[in-house]
Amino acid sequence: MDYRGENIARVDVLVIGAGPAGSVASALLRQQGLQVLVIEREQFPRFSIGESLLPQSMEYLEQAGMLEVVNAAGFQVKDGAAFARGAQYTAFDFRDKFSDGWSTTYQVPRARFDHILALEAQRQGAELRFRQEAIAVDVDGVRPRITVKDLDGETYAIEAGFILDASGFGRVLPRLLRLEKPSNFPVRGAIFTHMEDRITGDDFDLNKIRVTVHADHDDVWYWLIPFSDGRSSLGVVAERDFLAGYDATDLIWRDGTRMPLADGRPAGDLAEMLRRGSILDQIRLPYPAGPLTAGMGPTGDPGRVRNRAFFDKMYGNCWKGEVRPRLVSVVWLPRSWGRTIEATSVNSVAQRIAAVSAEVDALPLALKRYAYPPAGTYNCRTVADTGQPSMHAWGAAIDISRAHADYWLDHRAGDNERPSQIPTEIVEIFERHGFIWGGKWSHYDTMHFEYRPELLNSRAAAE
Ligand SMILES: Cc1cc2nc3c(=O)[nH]c(=O)nc-3n(C[C@H](O)[C@H](O)[C@H](O)COP(=O)(O)OP(=O)(O)OC[C@H]3O[C@@H](n4cnc5c(N)ncnc54)[C@H](O)[C@@H]3O)c2cc1C
Repeated sequence: MDYRGENIARVDVLVIGAGPAGSVASALLRQQGLQVLVIEREQFPRFSIGESLLPQSMEYLEQAGMLEVVNAAGFQVKDGAAFARGAQYTAFDFRDKFSDGWSTTYQVPRARFDHILALEAQRQGAELRFRQEAIAVDVDGVRPRITVKDLDGETYAIEAGFILDASGFGRVLPRLLRLEKPSNFPVRGAIFTHMEDRITGDDFDLNKIRVTVHADHDDVWYWLIPFSDGRSSLGVVAERDFLAGYDATDLIWRDGTRMPLADGRPAGDLAEMLRRGSILDQIRLPYPAGPLTAGMGPTGDPGRVRNRAFFDKMYGNCWKGEVRPRLVSVVWLPRSWGRTIEATSVNSVAQRIAAVSAEVDALPLALKRYAYPPAGTYNCRTVADTGQPSMHAWGAAIDISRAHADYWLDHRAGDNERPSQIPTEIVEIFERHGFIWGGKWSHYDTMHFEYRPELLNSRAAAE
């Protein structure tokens, strides 16, 4: 960065972002007598999401001397949260508590709330500059320097004793200093709007945020946050799809990436498909969900073909260190085994393994003993006979107890008997949560389950 010939302004503290964090921090710093400059990319009032406050925020607003202006604004009082699912309803009142501190707060349209706080910080002596964006940072000198782009696209530098990053979703310093790490939380998306709510009756408690869980999908939920002006914030939260769709030739990802569905080779040679299967190859064979009836043996290896590029894009390439940061710990069978295993957070695989764990743990001992100790989850390795990554390399597979398992490569030559089975109750639980069982492969691996919901929910490509 070149600052030659410039008269660089200096401040005690430069705050990036005039959201609630930036404004409250600026007011607190002003109370210490420090000179504060706040740069904010947008012109306020501006829309933001996050409207249902927690009572503890009142404590910080009070400390920052901002309570008076907030109380005077006439926001909707909030005294708790209500939860609904189908006909079920329960509500928590924050006033039913046993400790000191605030028990009520507000539900606020953020455009107005954030503007009020920013103006109050300004009134308390912070210098506030809208439409100024922090675009670069240099922390190598005696004092950190920020490069700011102004309204006209011109840049200037500011030197500060301290830089306080209050850029919220902007994540300015982590981005500029390359400190960002992928989150190991499941990626969720939200769709939201403000609407005229026409809530009039007594049957709706305006003083509470209402969270409604989808009746059939417990990982989908809605919020309803009433404001004081006859409008409400309404939103839905659900896992975000990676895939946007497909056309005659390509699979299309949400980020615009296109991957060929087929590779031009005729389908059919399993050994070849196992080594370099296309996206179509991997869903070609139908997976027989449900119990295997007497006399019905596995035919083919539905799911054993995996297109490496597809799964690397979905879960990361473990040999490049892309999978480990997304792993989360799950306690496997807390009532029976109770130690942690690791699985990927992508597609909520770890969360689904936790759900499987809870259900298997509730089975009688004679059944659940097949499930522990687990023989492994994440493992950056290839499959012995194909040289291709195992589903374990993407953190999306679990092997249950080895003691009761059979693996086709270990089976004695000439032994035509089917391998020992594990209880259908366990298989059924896994399948219900999106995992296929290796016991249904001709090249069976009866302790193996991997997350492949596309094979359980869709018709095979061959059809
Ligand atoms: C779907 C959803 C629902 C939520 N619901 C709730 C809820 O009900 N209750 C709740 O308490 N929280 C909720 N949150 C969280 C809440 O939105 C945030 O915690 C809150 O906005 C954080 O405030 P902040 O001041 O830290 O940052 P922000 O409000 O994000 O403010 C940061 C400011 O920095 C500015 N900025 C960004 N980059 C730059 C830059 N380079 N230069 C200058 N300025 C910059 C931005 O313009 C912005 O004004 C929700 C979040 C989401 C995603």
